[in-house]
Amino acid sequence: MPALLEARNLKKYFKSGGGLLHAVDDISFTLEDGKTLGVVGESGCGKSTLGRTLLHLLDATDGQIFFEGRDITNPTKEERHAFREKMQIIFQDPFSSLNPRMSVSNAIMEPLILHSKLGKDDIRAETRKLMDTVGIARRFENAYPHELDGGRRQRIGIARALALRPKFIVCDEPVSALDVSIQAQIINLMLDLQEERGLAYMFVTHDLSVVKYISNDIMVMYLGQMVEKAPAEELFRNTLHPYTKALLSAVPVPSLRGKKKRIIMQGELTSPVNPKPGCRFMARCQYASEECERPQNLEETSPGHFVSCHKYKEIDAAKGDAV
Ligand code: SF4
Repeated sequence: MPALLEARNLKKYFKSGGGLLHAVDDISFTLEDGKTLGVVGESGCGKSTLGRTLLHLLDATDGQIFFEGRDITNPTKEERHAFREKMQIIFQDPFSSLNPRMSVSNAIMEPLILHSKLGKDDIRAETRKLMDTVGIARRFENAYPHELDGGRRQRIGIARALALRPKFIVCDEPVSALDVSIQAQIINLMLDLQEERGLAYMFVTHDLSVVKYISNDIMVMYLGQMVEKAPAEELFRNTLHPYTKALLSAVPVPSLRGKKKRIIMQGELTSPVNPKPGCRFMARCQYASEECERPQNLEETSPGHFVSCHKYKEIDAAKGDAV
C-alpha cells in the first residue's frame, strides 16, 4: 500500500538578488496514515517552506509530491480543490491567521461554506460539533478573536483545519506562541484528535522537547537540507550529526547526574543563496576538515536512521571524549 504522503527530491528555490535561495533542497521522505513527522531546525532552515510546498501554498521548483499514491506535483484546478480538503495547515500565530471581524462560529463555518456541499442547518450543526471537539464552550460562539486567549484562538485554528475532515495536517509551530501551560493542553488535544481520526501530522517546530513527545520520526533540517532523520527515540538515543547534537544539547533534561554539556555553535551561518557543494554546516562545525568540502549523501546507518555527514563514524567512535 502506498504511503499517505511522499516527497521525492523536493526543491523550492527563490530568486534572491542575482542568485537562487535554496530554501528546500532535495528533500525526500514518506509519511504513513496516523503518524507524525517532526521537522526541526533553526529559523530559516526551510522547515515551514517545506510544509507550504507540500500543500501547494508554494509551487515546487523541482521534485515530486505523492498523496495516497497519486502524483500531485502539478495538479489541475479540480485536483487542487479535492486535495485541499484532505491536506490542511494549522498556523503558528492564531491571532494573525484569524479574521478579526469574524466571530468564532463564522470562522469555523467558513471552510464548510466554501468547500463542502452541506446546507445551512447542517453547517451550523457541524460547526457546533467542531467547537465541542476542540473544547470551545458554546458561550464563545459569537465572540471575536481579540476577546479570546491564545489557547482558545488556536483551538479555532484547529477546528478550521478539521472542518473538511482532512487526512494530513501541517502543524507549523502551532504552540510556540502560547504559554507553557496552554501548550500542553493543545498538544494533548492534537494527540487525541490524531488517535480518534487517524490524522497524519507534519509537526514543524524549533522546540525539540515538544517534538520528541509528539513524533514518530524526526527530520532535522539545516539550510534547506535534511541532515538527519530517524525514529524519535533513536534520534535522541543515538544522535549522529554534529548539528543535531548541538540542537539536542540545548534541550533541558531533568537528570540526577547533573547538567549535560551544552554545545555552543561557533562561526557564521553560511548563505543559502547559491550554496557551495560541500557540507553547509561546515562554518559552524567543530569537526570540519577539508573532506567536508566534498558533496555528501544521506546514508542509512540503521533501519530508518539517515545521516548526511562525512565524519559521523569517526565522531561517533570518539563520542566519550569529543562531546
Ligand atoms: Fe561537520 Fe564535516 Fe560532518 Fe559537515 S560533513 S557536519 S562539516 S564533520
